[in-house]
Amino acid sequence: MATKENTKTRILELKKMLNDYSYHYYVLDQPKVPDAEYDRLFRELQNLESQYPELITSDSPTQRVGAAPATAFKQVHHATPMLSLDNAFTEEDVLNFNRRIYERLELADTEKVEYVCEPKIDGTAVNLVYEDGRLTQAATRGDGVIGEDILQNVRTISSVPLVLHGGKYPKLLEVRGEVYMSHESFNKLNASASKSGGKTFVNPRNAAAGSLRQLDPKITASRDLDIFCYGIGKLQDGEFPKSHREVLTKVKSWGLKVNAEIKVVKGIEGCFDYYKAIGAKRSELPYEIDGVVYKINEFAQQDILGFVARAPRFALAHKFPAEEELTEVTNIDFQVGRTGILTPVARLKPVFVGGATVSNATLHNMDEVLRKDVRIGDTVIVRRAGDVIPEVVSVVLARRTKHTKAVVVPKNCPVCGSKVVKSEGEVAIRCPNYLGCLAQLKESIRHFASRGALNIKGLGDELIDKLVDVGIIKNVADLYSLSQEKILTLERQGEKSAQNILQAIDKSKRTTLAKFIFALGIREVGEVTAQNLAMHFGDLTKLMQANAGDLEAITDIGPRVASEVVTFFHEKHNRVLIQKLLAAGINWPKQIPSTDKRLNGKTFVLTGTLIAMSRDEAKERLQALGAKVTDSVSKNTTYVVTGDSPGSKLDKAKKLGVEIIDERQLLNILQG
Ligand code: NAD
Repeated sequence: MATKENTKTRILELKKMLNDYSYHYYVLDQPKVPDAEYDRLFRELQNLESQYPELITSDSPTQRVGAAPATAFKQVHHATPMLSLDNAFTEEDVLNFNRRIYERLELADTEKVEYVCEPKIDGTAVNLVYEDGRLTQAATRGDGVIGEDILQNVRTISSVPLVLHGGKYPKLLEVRGEVYMSHESFNKLNASASKSGGKTFVNPRNAAAGSLRQLDPKITASRDLDIFCYGIGKLQDGEFPKSHREVLTKVKSWGLKVNAEIKVVKGIEGCFDYYKAIGAKRSELPYEIDGVVYKINEFAQQDILGFVARAPRFALAHKFPAEEELTEVTNIDFQVGRTGILTPVARLKPVFVGGATVSNATLHNMDEVLRKDVRIGDTVIVRRAGDVIPEVVSVVLARRTKHTKAVVVPKNCPVCGSKVVKSEGEVAIRCPNYLGCLAQLKESIRHFASRGALNIKGLGDELIDKLVDVGIIKNVADLYSLSQEKILTLERQGEKSAQNILQAIDKSKRTTLAKFIFALGIREVGEVTAQNLAMHFGDLTKLMQANAGDLEAITDIGPRVASEVVTFFHEKHNRVLIQKLLAAGINWPKQIPSTDKRLNGKTFVLTGTLIAMSRDEAKERLQALGAKVTDSVSKNTTYVVTGDSPGSKLDKAKKLGVEIIDERQLLNILQG
């Protein structure tokens, strides 16, 4: 049982830690730990303080906003304080927030209070002051009362108007918004910084905050920042709007940028629907969001609800599951890939991050392990965002103990024991035993059966492992001599699933030349290169006989790819394997080498179901004419082709003003 004395000690410890983390986060723009860890400690402090309110002090992080402004900047007193937001991490937190609102406003359960739902932009808050319509002051939030003067820097953001639009603006206006950096600009900034040895940022939020708090506005100007405005503070000599929705409309009419995803909903159910919808869209948004914000719409109701120390009672930030978490590296193993490359993989104490439990994270290669200095026993930050494979972001050095162990680079392949090799100019180490190493064989089979290759449905990892381990399959061609009896000799294999697998294998025999070339797993030959090769040669034998010169004559094929292709077909065992696969019945429609490249330089995106042909077929026909076919819409897309029930790509095309065509127009283009 915790005594008051123990609690006091823990409170002091938590305050010290949180203040240190805040300083690194807000002042140095270099967080020491993931937000999830900060939030956990913050909540622990909140809970302890609620048990012993007499221990709350005014310097507690629960009573303050942000951190004191840095002395390098002139200080600015905000006319009205800039507060933070209360956070909700679960549905229960949100329901509690809603319940408290209903109690305070004395609303009946049947009434539906209006909420404005907004994406929670992961950037940094700013306060803009317009006097007689002119931007005269811009400041960071700082500690909520005093911020830093960053007017010259904000003036470089092109979406911030220096003069308000329209004539009907108040004499004095305080506008609140979030300055952010798009994913694209963030990636570009980090790529060029790592090239020139400059400072890289861990996420777009820190990049935005760091870029805005520069002493030299020229640096800010080079950083491609943007803004979304979401509120007003003081307003003088003008009518104060009656609702938040009205604020947003007004702010927009004055030429300030307002997020297009904002929606007014009725009741907390509407908020949950919005949370789900934005969550599903999150990976497509060009900027980072870390949750959504719910705000009571009517100001009359907001006024009744009022504020607590650091946040309003009428608004709530409903966070998405954290994409970064802390965990421990229990071991570092080396995994052998299809081409023999040994990749270091961190084995982790299982941790829930990005909506899933993660127990392995890639470390890419030994250079990366050394650069990040990851050791066995270290506490690390793990990131899992969307479908991207989890990775170790960095080590929390403050938590390193003397028991950590550095990684030893293996001298032998961990699977077959062959001595590993490192080719000149290559970062990777490899197992050279490409014919006998079972790990490489398993990976080649996985690749051969993958969707972009021969697409053998139901041939999962576990089954491949078993088939190879018991020696039923010694090369990919053996897949085509599998029988029901052989599959049934394996543990836990039923007749029905065996039949399904055999059917899928049989179906895979009918393919295209491009898919077959890709399935062979030639180093450096991805789907697009395989497509180019198929298109150019139109025939496997011609490709097999091509020399480096013939190959390099093809667009997008350089000496490295050419050399890998020539080497691959030169190897006798590869030629034998191809013969076996063809003898097993693998076939494809005759491909006519295309000389008509009239769609060169054009980029297509396909969405929805087409009637006259499958999307794969449309893709191949477009590529045959020199077009590029990509999966996502950007401003470089020439056409978005819409079939039946198009997806979100259509919305994006509309937003970006990309030309949208239907299947009939596509056929016209294909037929010239
Ligand atoms: P917050 O991010 O929890 O929420 C408030 C802020 O959200 C506002 O000030 C505003 O800047 C922003 N915002 C974005 N979109 C908005 C919208 N549509 N409407 C209103 N506001 C919007 O705020 P905070 O007080 O800056 O920071 C607390 C959070 O910062 C913590 O939850 C923690 O995750 C993180 N933090 C992390 C560390 C660390 O070491 N990793 C340290 C300190 C704080």
